[in-house]
Amino acid sequence: MRIVLLGAPGSGKGTQSQRLVERHHIPQISTGDLLRAAVAKGTLLGLQAQEAMAAGRLVADEIVLGMIRERLGESDTREGFILDGFPRNLAQARALDELLRTIGQPLDAVVQLNVDYGELSRRIAGRRTCSDCGRVVNLLTLPAGALEQERCPKTGQPHRLFQRPDDNEATVAQRLRVYDEQTCPLVDYFRGQGLLRSIDAEGDLETVSARLAQALAG
Ligand code: ADP
Repeated sequence: MRIVLLGAPGSGKGTQSQRLVERHHIPQISTGDLLRAAVAKGTLLGLQAQEAMAAGRLVADEIVLGMIRERLGESDTREGFILDGFPRNLAQARALDELLRTIGQPLDAVVQLNVDYGELSRRIAGRRTCSDCGRVVNLLTLPAGALEQERCPKTGQPHRLFQRPDDNEATVAQRLRVYDEQTCPLVDYFRGQGLLRSIDAEGDLETVSARLAQALAG
C-alpha cells in the first residue's frame, strides 16, 4: 500500500499515520519529522531548513526532494509507505510522480483529511511532544488525569512535554496560509489522477481511524 495523507497542519496526518504503521507494517515518511531530525542534529541541511520552518514557510523543494529520494531508496519501503506532509506543492507532486514511475511504485491512494479551520487552530494550540519518546499528545482532548498515569516508554518517568517552536500563533497562521495557497491545489491534481479520497477528520481518534480504513478499503 503506497499512500499519501493530505491535510492541513493539525489535521491528524501524523497520528493517523502512526496507526497505519501499526496496522499495515509499512513505514511512515514524514518530511516534517525528517527535517526536525536534521535541525536537531545540526546538519547543513538542517541549518538550511531551520529558518523557513520557524517562519512557517515551505522548505526549498530540492532539500525536501533529496530527502524523499533517499528515504524511498531504503529497503523497508518495498512493501509500501505512508507519505505524511509530502508532497506539499505542485512541483513536489510532479517530482514524486516521476520518481515513483522510475522505481515502478505508483501511488494507490491519496486521502484528504478534512478539518475545519477553527478546530485546526485549537488542536495545534494544545499539541505537545515528549522530548524522550516523541509521542504527540493533545492537552485539550486528553481525558483528565490520563497523562499523569502514563509513563514514557524510554525513561519510565512521566513524559517531558514541549511545544513545537512553530506551533505558536503567528507561525500557525502562516502555515495555514501556505497550506491554502500551495497545498490545496493538490486536491484537484490527485482527483484528476483518480487517486483522491476525502474523509471527515473531525471527531475522536477511533472514529477518524475507522473512516480512514474505510476510505482505503474502498
Ligand atoms: P504540519 O503538517 O503540522 O505543518 P510538519 O511537521 O509536516 O507539520 O511540517 C513542519 C514544517 O516543516 C513545515 O511548516 C515546513 O516548513 C516544513 N516541511 C515539512 N514538509 C515539507 C515539504 N514537503 N516541503 C517543504 N517544507 C516542508
